[in-house]
Amino acid sequence: MLSAAGHEIENAAGTNIAMKIIRAEHLGMCFGVKDAIALAIETARHEPLTILGDLVHNQTVLAELKERGIRFEADAEEVGTGTVMITAHGASGRKLGAVRARGLAVLEATCPLVHVAHRAVAKLVSEGFHPVIIGKRDHVEVRGMTEDLAGFDVVLSEEDVAELRERPRFGIAAQTTQPIERVRELVGLIRKRFPKSDVRFVDTVCQPTKQRQHAAVELAQQCTVVIVIGGAHSNNTRELVQTCSRQCARVHHIQTVAELCEECFQPDDTVGITAGTSTPDSVIEAVARRLAQLASATDSSSNRKETTCNNG
Ligand code: SF4
Repeated sequence: MLSAAGHEIENAAGTNIAMKIIRAEHLGMCFGVKDAIALAIETARHEPLTILGDLVHNQTVLAELKERGIRFEADAEEVGTGTVMITAHGASGRKLGAVRARGLAVLEATCPLVHVAHRAVAKLVSEGFHPVIIGKRDHVEVRGMTEDLAGFDVVLSEEDVAELRERPRFGIAAQTTQPIERVRELVGLIRKRFPKSDVRFVDTVCQPTKQRQHAAVELAQQCTVVIVIGGAHSNNTRELVQTCSRQCARVHHIQTVAELCEECFQPDDTVGITAGTSTPDSVIEAVARRLAQLASATDSSSNRKETTCNNG
């Protein structure tokens, strides 16, 4: 019932109806998050496990893991199990050392692409560059990238760049989930502001993020409404919302199918679906199924509904 990209939905009688549903070419959970969840589930089968921080910023996934007996703590001091897992976002050497100093066994689920970012920053520092991270200062991944550094800056806006102090050499890397266009723009601003400085940029934005961002732009350009599925606190989901909003006036961020604003659709809508890198397939499928039902219930001969949409 649900179409592949750009194909019209057909109703039960096989006649074409107007409302179309399109999925982004790349959407949903990335390999880094999938591997971390699989490791947590497998480990918890054999021994009690605590995860340090949120494994993913998605309440559906966290609730499922808690049901399996997996515990979550924000602080290593509070861990009551012998094994503690570091999330896909990674952690600094300082934090890992503090966990091991408590005699805990460390299970590392750090995404390999976060390791790449850590190594890139370490190399820049070893070559004499002052590290600048483009990202969210308080995000767990950015803390992991910076906690071992003697000095660093984190920027995310033009105002942040304006506050940078001049250095002979700037070494720039990015939080893996930042939109690459924003990263390039900020790198350009730093180069412009410090024309005498040696500015080196290492692109550490991960490929799954780039694919989802790029696919979201293509999707939103074809749609009259876009549904972005993902956790309220998921950084990359919120970035997808912003990206889609630049291309499409009607963008709705929902966490689960229960939040789908069913009055928000017109019979002639083209509805796009995309989802953040921590959104499980089951949540995407539930939304897709419900949209297909709505499409089936509405045929092209029906009167256009006058709707009031307060969502998104
Ligand atoms: S978003 Fe990118 S860096 Fe983060 S876990 Fe997924 S693949 Fe890895």
